[in-house]
Amino acid sequence: MSVSASARVSKPPPIALLLWRGLRRRCPRCGSRGLFPHGYLGLAERCPRCGVKFEREEGFFLGAYVVNFGVCEGLVAVLLFVYIGLLAGHPDTSWWPFVAAGLVVGLLGPVLFYPFAQTVWTAIHLSLHPLDRAETDDAALHATPPGHIP
Ligand SMILES: [Zn+2]
Repeated sequence: MSVSASARVSKPPPIALLLWRGLRRRCPRCGSRGLFPHGYLGLAERCPRCGVKFEREEGFFLGAYVVNFGVCEGLVAVLLFVYIGLLAGHPDTSWWPFVAAGLVVGLLGPVLFYPFAQTVWTAIHLSLHPLDRAETDDAALHATPPGHIP
């Protein structure tokens, strides 16, 4: 690999920064906003600034489903543990607020959190599998030129 080719394959940012950007629905690679031009759930094919393609391979977003499922089911589990904890100290604790909250979290949570799960999964994937030379070159072809605000 020549020096110029290795220079194009940049080291990804630290995982904490990638995740922080992903948790805010930003591009994990460059931190750009505007990744959802087609509505709340409509992730763009590429980052409008750095040009990285989000769906890096077929079935890529299966990881986002796993992240989404884990977070939402984790929230339901927290509700359950809180209820059990309260029930241990106060046997007359009403169950229906927890069931209602569980239904809301279980039904709306996956829809509301999915865009975040997509960017978080992209962050995790970028940290585990940094862009290779071809992906870096492809992203550069679709990147917005410096100084141009997308
Ligand atoms: Zn980007």
